[in-house]
Amino acid sequence: MHELSLAEGLIEILTEEASKQAYRQVRKVVLEIGEFSHVAPDAMRFCFEIAAQGSVAEGAVLDLTFRQAMGECRCCGESVVMHSRYDACPACGAYGIRVVEGEDMSIKYIEVV
Ligand SMILES: [Zn+2]
Repeated sequence: MHELSLAEGLIEILTEEASKQAYRQVRKVVLEIGEFSHVAPDAMRFCFEIAAQGSVAEGAVLDLTFRQAMGECRCCGESVVMHSRYDACPACGAYGIRVVEGEDMSIKYIEVV
């Protein structure tokens, strides 16, 4: 499952941060997910709970927010908000917009004790 490896990566980051910033426990994590990252929120929450067991993030609340995908037209260079990967450019009508943002996820906020 794609979400499990993402969740495990997330726990790894939190564990590393815990030793750097000297906190003992994570209470809440706000994660921003790109619209094109193919992360299923329910699966992500479920996998996070499993991956967090025995770690600094055990029992932490996972909050998910979505970030709109942005692209750049290869033809005219216009920045566009993307709703699907195969949108045409609203400015010049060309296809093949390059995705600039929205394929990854990032940690927005961590609440610790
Ligand atoms: Zn264009």
